[in-house]
Amino acid sequence: MDAQFNFFMPAEILSGKDIVRNSETIFSLLGKRCVIVTGKSSAVKSGALKDIVFALENAGVEYYIFNKITENPQTATCCEGGKIAREYGADFVIGVGGGSPLDAAKAVCVYAANGDIENDEIYTKEVKNPPLPLVLIGTTAGTGSEVSGVSVLTRKDGKKQSVSGKNYYAKYVLADPKYTYSVPAGTTVSTALDAFAHAVESYFSKKHDFLSRKFSCMALGEITPILLKFLNPDYTLSEDERDALYFASLYAGFALNKGGTCFPHGMGYALTEDYGVPHGLACAVFIPAFLKEAKKGDSEGYAEIIKASGVSESELLKLLESLCKADITIPIEKIEEYRVRWATLKNFKNSPTDFGADDGASLVYNLFG
Ligand code: NAP
Ligand code: FE
Repeated sequence: MDAQFNFFMPAEILSGKDIVRNSETIFSLLGKRCVIVTGKSSAVKSGALKDIVFALENAGVEYYIFNKITENPQTATCCEGGKIAREYGADFVIGVGGGSPLDAAKAVCVYAANGDIENDEIYTKEVKNPPLPLVLIGTTAGTGSEVSGVSVLTRKDGKKQSVSGKNYYAKYVLADPKYTYSVPAGTTVSTALDAFAHAVESYFSKKHDFLSRKFSCMALGEITPILLKFLNPDYTLSEDERDALYFASLYAGFALNKGGTCFPHGMGYALTEDYGVPHGLACAVFIPAFLKEAKKGDSEGYAEIIKASGVSESELLKLLESLCKADITIPIEKIEEYRVRWATLKNFKNSPTDFGADDGASLVYNLFG
């Protein structure tokens, strides 16, 4: 058994009933003023904002709500949030929402402390000052952004690109699955598929290790039975199932934090940018092809993830075939554009076989051409 591993994830995760309402001490330790970074509605609909405000007021912390974060957050919006946090004199930032506001909040902390970095410069310029401390509160069960040092942003040219490293971790994660209860059905499926993709891609990634594979298997064991429920479109998840799904998205996040993503995520970005396919589904449509490659490259690992999923190979493939569908048509010129772009994509190099940009282009042609 090769049990070697290393794991860096510096955020303190606190979970439990009413953890946000009861976080007055943490908030008062972090300072006197904060900016809350969120989207248009998720913080309100989930009930998280009410709990945050309750705890901040108890702690005597002043706050400013920056709720301009859209899905696939723009670098420019995050830079604007950073400027506001700087001018407001914020001591810390709270990011609340799905992966989009959480990723945006990570960037806001960097921009706020580094006034010389603007917009797309976040990908290239040195971060000289430590980012503002960050508290993350998730409201979807998918990205695991709470526990990764990755922020996926959209550049000025409309392309998604991630920025990562030690500057992009939260200081505290307040994990309460009840905030996911209000997520609409379609988003619940897509975000669950995202978590599934994280578990599978990081399992087979070149950067995986013993511990990250354990996290992947833990996540798959929780997520797969829930994906099976989605085969009935009228099925509503129970609170227990929602809770399990949320924690599983964090386990998949731990795996992702070490292994990173492979070609499904790299290719999925294009479907989101050009056709508006939600992130999780956009990546998951490539998971059946990814599993085929994984089986070729690592048949033992493949057997382990099937076992961890708790279903047979054919059941798993049938399930993915049913859920991972996007009704789009992609013209050949676009596919050629992707072929060129993907030639340098690091997600391909992190994949288990030599599946490359030409294979990716053929796959897109077969699925959507
Ligand atoms: P999202 O883009 O954050 O949110 C999708 C939609 O769901 C939004 O309309 C949002 O509303 C709504 N919503 C969120 N929580 C809700 C709730 N509790 N109740 C009702 N509506 C709710 O979706 P996501 O899938 O969580 O995040 C996707 C983003 O994360 C992508 O940009 C992706 O690239 C990134 N990502 C990051 C990582 C990472 O490691 N950092 C990993 C995977 C994906 P609002 O508009 O009000 O927010
Ligand atoms: Fe993802």
